[in-house]
Amino acid sequence: MSSISKTSSAINKNAQIAVIGAGPSGLLTATILRQRGYENIILFEKKSSIGGYTKSVEMDGHVFDYSIKLIPACTAYEPSIYTPLQAMLDKYGLSKQLLPFPNTTFFNTQTRKLLPGPMFLKDYPSKQVIEELLVGWNILQKIRNYAGTNGVVEAGIALPGETFAQWVKRNQLPVFGVLCELVLDSYLFGPASKQPAGFVLKCITFYMIGFIKRILLAMGADVTAIPSVDANIKTIIQDINPTASYVHKEGYLDFFQKLVEYEGLDVRLTQGVQTFRTLKDLDGTQIELVTDNGDIHKFDALVIACSPQDALKFLETEQPIVPLYQQIRAGSISQVWSFRALSWPEVLPIGHLVLVYPVCAALATPTTVQQCHAVMREYEDSNICFAFCYAKSDSLPLEAEQTMRESMQTLGITVGEVLEAPRFQWPSVVPEDGVENWYSQVETLQGQNNIFYIGEVFSSSGVISVLDYLLQKIPSYFP
Ligand SMILES: Cc1cc2nc3c(=O)[nH]c(=O)nc-3n(C[C@H](O)[C@H](O)[C@H](O)COP(=O)(O)OP(=O)(O)OC[C@H]3O[C@@H](n4cnc5c(N)ncnc54)[C@H](O)[C@@H]3O)c2cc1C
Repeated sequence: MSSISKTSSAINKNAQIAVIGAGPSGLLTATILRQRGYENIILFEKKSSIGGYTKSVEMDGHVFDYSIKLIPACTAYEPSIYTPLQAMLDKYGLSKQLLPFPNTTFFNTQTRKLLPGPMFLKDYPSKQVIEELLVGWNILQKIRNYAGTNGVVEAGIALPGETFAQWVKRNQLPVFGVLCELVLDSYLFGPASKQPAGFVLKCITFYMIGFIKRILLAMGADVTAIPSVDANIKTIIQDINPTASYVHKEGYLDFFQKLVEYEGLDVRLTQGVQTFRTLKDLDGTQIELVTDNGDIHKFDALVIACSPQDALKFLETEQPIVPLYQQIRAGSISQVWSFRALSWPEVLPIGHLVLVYPVCAALATPTTVQQCHAVMREYEDSNICFAFCYAKSDSLPLEAEQTMRESMQTLGITVGEVLEAPRFQWPSVVPEDGVENWYSQVETLQGQNNIFYIGEVFSSSGVISVLDYLLQKIPSYFP
């Protein structure tokens, strides 16, 4: 039985710190802690490889990423790669290995034409489209200052319990709203309209700018001539890298491997944490961990850096975080197919991520599960393609594959051999109702018994969001 104390003892630079999970959150936490002078950190990872969702495989002489693929190159507030990430890429010698992420193209299945922006834009007057996209950019720029999805609510940008669909209606931003949905659903977060507004807005901060810039360019909008546009935004729009994102030539996993190597992180693979208990005596708090191989380790502080669903497997019921973690629901099932294309239509550019409109989101018609909504063939000299879709959790693999093959056929792509079809239940989401103040409640628990909770459920998704969040939070948890 754990003995739960209410207070935490001071964590000094010599403290022994355990991090559970060697995904992006755990690895970046350990890196920031080391940069802050904390020397004794051990990461426990239940799998045989680091990186969490990252999965890079070599085929046809190229490295392909099944999940994490892109590094957004510009943000709402910087025209180039997020500066702290750029510093890491430089340090690990990876900057020259970045390739521009292929453009994203919208494909209209009815007209069989590619469009610079989604088709729905033509239903709105150009003036409204331009104005709304710029208002949206202004909002995204403000969100940067607030850590995590909780920050978006605390900043008054989204209301507690408000869904994204409600947010769009309240702010009268139908164009911006539907574009956000289209982008988010295509990146497998969807259906966005039903997710909490704070979560959606935080997620898209790093992904939307390239889209907005491209649409504004295609519309011939001269934003410099619009007096209401923030001067900073005008500069960013002019300077921004239009390719918007990069992929790492050697695969994203290589980035995390370099990080472990260069930062000298102590990662214990295949040593998942099974249980832990808090011991308290006159000398302060100690945390005792038991790992999968039965080893017992003692630490002064603990950082839990895995999903709430995984954490519930080792947390004991009396831990105060448990009722809060039980309210988290796992995201929709996202499936990524890799297959060999026997035919590839000329109209679809190679090296572009093709979003299929109108299959994917619209506020009025939530995404249909099991339909593919994005596909890409990355290289001329390899016919390996990746298709992204949602799947029903109870769908049989063959039934799901048949749907994917049919979806591809509507684009004119004939699917040959299926190479792999991993499923991700992702991302974890705080439900939109009945959990008011969820994030503030977690915040009050941070540091109790020297235990800290991090992970993408707080920071929102994507490596840059995780990094941005940790850079703001870790210094306050570990002064
Ligand atoms: C299909 C897909 C595509 C994506 N595309 C992108 C993209 O293009 N760009 C981008 O920036 N982001 C992308 N993401 C998001 C990115 O993967 C997440 O934001 C990131 O992985 C979150 O990191 P995390 O460390 O919080 O969680 P995770 O990646 O889930 O890592 C948690 C780690 O904890 C470990 N763990 C769990 N339980 C235990 C235990 N008991 N003991 C020890 N270890 C444990 C797990 O094995 C895992 O390694 C994508 C995600 C998916 C699923």
